[in-house]
Amino acid sequence: MSIVAIVGRPNVGKSTLFNRMIQRREAIVDSVSGVTRDRHYGKSDWNGKEFSLIDTGGYVKGSDDIFEAEIDKQVELAIGEADAIIFMVDVESGVTGMDEEVAQLLRKSRKPFFLAVNKVDSANRENDAVEFYSLGVDKYYTLSSINGSGTGDLLDDLVKSLPEEEEREEEEVPRFAVVGRPNAGKSSFINALIGEDRYIVTDIAGTTRDSIDTRYNRFGFEFNLVDTAGIRKKSKVKENLEFYSVMRSVRAIEHCDVILLVFDATRGFDGQVQNIFWLAERNNKGVVILANKWDLVEKDNQTVKDFEKYIRKQIEPYTDVPIIFISTITKQRIYKAIETAVEVYKNRTKRIKTSVLNETMLPIMEAYPPPQHKGKYVKVKFCTQLPTPYPSFAFFANLPQYVKEPYKRFLENKLRDNFDFTGVPITVYMRKK
Ligand code: GDP
Ligand code: GDP
Repeated sequence: MSIVAIVGRPNVGKSTLFNRMIQRREAIVDSVSGVTRDRHYGKSDWNGKEFSLIDTGGYVKGSDDIFEAEIDKQVELAIGEADAIIFMVDVESGVTGMDEEVAQLLRKSRKPFFLAVNKVDSANRENDAVEFYSLGVDKYYTLSSINGSGTGDLLDDLVKSLPEEEEREEEEVPRFAVVGRPNAGKSSFINALIGEDRYIVTDIAGTTRDSIDTRYNRFGFEFNLVDTAGIRKKSKVKENLEFYSVMRSVRAIEHCDVILLVFDATRGFDGQVQNIFWLAERNNKGVVILANKWDLVEKDNQTVKDFEKYIRKQIEPYTDVPIIFISTITKQRIYKAIETAVEVYKNRTKRIKTSVLNETMLPIMEAYPPPQHKGKYVKVKFCTQLPTPYPSFAFFANLPQYVKEPYKRFLENKLRDNFDFTGVPITVYMRKK
């Protein structure tokens, strides 16, 4: 999926536009899983084309007295990682020196970028926008992020510039992406697995765009291990690591089947780690959680249990996820981690025969039917797994619109109880029969 980044000075209205663009989709997702989402990353679509949207502003600290160097970095990262860029300026303040600097970086980059002149809330401000031609663009888009006017024209042109989705080849091997916060131990994990020498050989530090893949074979199973940390180490990006690692993670997650989410157990399963977790869940990717640096944690025979409980609490209600305690230093359980990722991959590609599915689920739904709605009984008659790359199920009923989230979650739990789907999100649809 393509990535679109919004860049610009603080307070020009980037977050306002971001929220507007992801609102509709986000609302849908939220109602399904009922969890809080990362505010700076979302999915959007326009004219049937879906893309990921990143509000780079959310990653820049210091707000008003922001350093130019920091904006430059933000723009450079966006240029490196995004497929198209929305460059936002503010008609109220007019052209500023910082705008000029950003424009120069973008022009040099040859990445498609779209100059959005924001806060054009009324017709007379339209004329004020003319001065932005001085930024050296052939075209700009006037809009009001607050009331939404003008955003359509911008999005029409924006989605036209996005690359067509590359079709994945049939025989392509599964991709496992190693993701996590900076210093969680991602590189150490990969090094421990494949050995220092081989690691260096594989490290063809090319573009900042592509992550480093290593073809790997273990337990008679071939897959690509996707390293999101290695390139950063080689490149000059040393600051703003958090933002960078999220950008990396976004792309890696979208192009993989299973993520190995590495976190530093001495620091805890914090908000940033959870963001990455939900990113994977939202993209219907498999997840294995790796609590790393377990060698540093003081333990008694209750520690693992307590720690697991603490993590599952953070990821409610989607708790059917493997958690493994590893140390890349002692190599404790690092092969177990891979083995589990293979299991999760198998769960994600599992197909339940329709006959088996109905034999299992119909009696359950007869015993516990959906609650009646305004005196009407809902009867589910049939169910089937849909041919999606991740597990999704359609339940056909006489009155599907009356089946609410709790019952869908009940069905999901029953699917998990009866067929192993550990580590993969399940989607349940109600359809009209
Ligand atoms: P960011 O720092 O670039 O993400 O900017 P925000 O989205 O936080 O917006 C900064 C301020 O500008 C807020 O007070 C917004 O309400 C305001 N703002 C954003 N878009 C518009 C707009 O289209 N018109 C007007 N008048 N104000 C806007
Ligand atoms: P990355 O940024 O996620 O790739 O993290 P690194 O692999 O570079 O690791 C960051 C730091 O944590 C390094 O100093 C590692 O030596 C250290 N580290 C990584 N894994 C472990 C571990 O299992 N135990 C201990 N004690 N330290 C670790």
